[in-house]
Amino acid sequence: MDFNLSESEKMLQGLARDLATKEVAPRAAEIDRTGQFPKDLAKEIGKRGFQGLPYPPRYGGSGAGYVSYALVLEQLCQASMTVGAIMAVNTVPEEGIFRFGNEEQKQRLLTPLARGDWLGGIGFTEADTGSDPRAIATVARRQGKGFVINGQKQFMSLAPVLDAVILFTRREGEGLNAFIVESRSPGFTVQETLDTMGLRGLGTSIVNLDDVYVPGENLLGEEGQGFEVLLEAISVERMSVAVQGVAVSQAALELSLDYARQRKAMGRPIARMQAIQQPLAEMASKTEAARWLVYRTAFLRDQGNSIQYESSMAKLFASQVAVDVTRLAMQIHGSFGTMKSLPVERLYRDAKMTEIYVGISEVHRSIIAGRLLE
Ligand SMILES: Cc1cc2nc3c(=O)[nH]c(=O)nc-3n(C[C@H](O)[C@H](O)[C@H](O)COP(=O)(O)OP(=O)(O)OC[C@H]3O[C@@H](n4cnc5c(N)ncnc54)[C@H](O)[C@@H]3O)c2cc1C
Repeated sequence: MDFNLSESEKMLQGLARDLATKEVAPRAAEIDRTGQFPKDLAKEIGKRGFQGLPYPPRYGGSGAGYVSYALVLEQLCQASMTVGAIMAVNTVPEEGIFRFGNEEQKQRLLTPLARGDWLGGIGFTEADTGSDPRAIATVARRQGKGFVINGQKQFMSLAPVLDAVILFTRREGEGLNAFIVESRSPGFTVQETLDTMGLRGLGTSIVNLDDVYVPGENLLGEEGQGFEVLLEAISVERMSVAVQGVAVSQAALELSLDYARQRKAMGRPIARMQAIQQPLAEMASKTEAARWLVYRTAFLRDQGNSIQYESSMAKLFASQVAVDVTRLAMQIHGSFGTMKSLPVERLYRDAKMTEIYVGISEVHRSIIAGRLLE
């Protein structure tokens, strides 16, 4: 076992910290307040080579691996969970293409995503389901050499700005299909961008798909293999949400430490009170435990393993930690914590999102229990 980061991992972490502190953190409150997607920061993440960290240079990436990816994501999310989530969402189609695409698809579709020339998203959730693939109603029917897609997707992040999306549909036969659909395809329209409690500014939207033609070359894997594609691609997104949980917890811990040192009660800093020291210790320990669960999951992916089980565990735990830690941070900040002008209440709202999106906690418990009882 080696818990040390390599020199290149430390370097990437430092570069990400630089971007996060200088360019992302000063914008976090404004993105949250306005709910406007930060296009310039999304471009900047791409320009710095952060959109393709796990993928080989021949497909536009840097081959730095998943641990590097987690380290960079953590820094960005600590400054703004929304900005980090842009990078995380983009990774879902990348992962799907990398694992299931043929050589031509990797060249044509993965390369622009990994280079940061395109932004990508995922379309799974619908009005009637976010957890049950069997309830997907969006359908792909064969037409000539391609497919025609009809339906509606809910909660598609980045929708107003993305170039391509990994889209899951039911098929005429058994199972699901996974496609890469380009957003400029006629019939692909954003109906409405949703006003969410946290992760504001992520462009999470309802998307209509009316007779959208997709060439057969954009089908990922075999027909009916969509569920398999989903499980693999989404396992990396679950790990990414776990990273978000760690980052938001770390941010809440640091704010709480600063506040506890400067806020006085009964004539002394509240940091001197056991009632404040106890939760601080709890927050730090939980954050650190979640961090190493996430890093190990990324390490396993770097070793070429499936992380379907580990990513569920990491996401379940890190999201619970995020909710616990931000709740304690609010408590330590007293009334000031509830103020919109301070960042703690944003962290509290963002933390809750990690328990819900990319698989609600109950679903992850079912996945974990299913594996334990196998
Ligand atoms: C900000 C944001 C961004 C998002 N981005 C995307 C995106 O880019 N692409 C995308 O496809 N989706 C996206 N989503 C959707 C999100 O991933 C789903 O909404 C989420 O997985 C939960 O699904 P649901 O809302 O349908 O909940 P449901 O599945 O309807 O769950 C509702 C309740 O039923 C319980 N429940 C459901 N199934 C089970 C089960 N098997 N076992 C036990 N309890 C169960 C749940 O615990 C929950 O309490 C996003 C959501 C948000 C809020």
